[in-house]
Amino acid sequence: MAQIRLDGVDKVYSGGVKAVDSLDLEIRDGEFMVLVGPSGCGKSTALRMIAGLEDISAGTITIGDRVVNDLAPKDRDIAMVFQNYALYPHMTVAQNLAFGLKLRGMPKEERNKRVHEAAKMLGLEQFLERKPAALSGGQRQRVAMGRAIVREPQAFLMDEPLSNLDAKLRVSMRASLNQLHERLGVTTVYVTHDQIEAMTLGNRVCVLREGRLQQVDTPQRLFDHP
Ligand code: ADP
Ligand code: ADP
Repeated sequence: MAQIRLDGVDKVYSGGVKAVDSLDLEIRDGEFMVLVGPSGCGKSTALRMIAGLEDISAGTITIGDRVVNDLAPKDRDIAMVFQNYALYPHMTVAQNLAFGLKLRGMPKEERNKRVHEAAKMLGLEQFLERKPAALSGGQRQRVAMGRAIVREPQAFLMDEPLSNLDAKLRVSMRASLNQLHERLGVTTVYVTHDQIEAMTLGNRVCVLREGRLQQVDTPQRLFDHP
């Protein structure tokens, strides 16, 4: 687990668009921070810079006690969850969960232990031998989260992970995410354009407008007294 800090972070894309503008943000150790705002306000860009998937144009990003500006994504000890699941169709759920650990050379015994723990936490135990095509959307999203959990990273970065699910599943997945966060206490940065998700998931919420930080506060204070 770790604190994440952005100090004076800018992103200017090659076309000249300033997607993120002088962003200062401190995400506390163990905090669930939601980045919210209208489409195009720079949420994904901010998250992708924390992940190392996008170069930063100015400023500093710190994870734990390390400045990560020049670190490759795989060296940042974070795990990212995407909205499109990105599961391997030819692998079973268990293989999907274990794949990242295998790449890192983790011994099979430890891999199995982590796969089973994550599957139990996510209610996926009875699906371990299935392929993604034989799962519901909600189950697939749980596998995508499981792949992040088994890594036991310092932080989770999530980009609209529920946006492909129907309304009913979103409600139950919000509850699962809350439980997971209570249980694991891993620092989480969660991007959404959905105010209900921001309100129900965030310890704090950061509102972005046109690349700038507009407000950062608890959901109660933001949405009760806007
Ligand atoms: P959000 O996640 O809030 O919808 P984004 O971070 O995706 O916003 O985009 C912020 C701004 O940067 C938008 O104006 C978008 O068009 C622009 N942008 C995003 N990705 C790129 C890119 N790869 N190249 C150029 N401009 C981009
Ligand atoms: P390999 O022999 O290439 O490791 P396996 O299909 O035996 O391929 O397993 C791949 C990974 O999936 C394993 O490392 C293991 O962690 C996980 N795995 C496979 N089957 C199960 C299972 N039934 N329960 C839990 N984890 C499993």
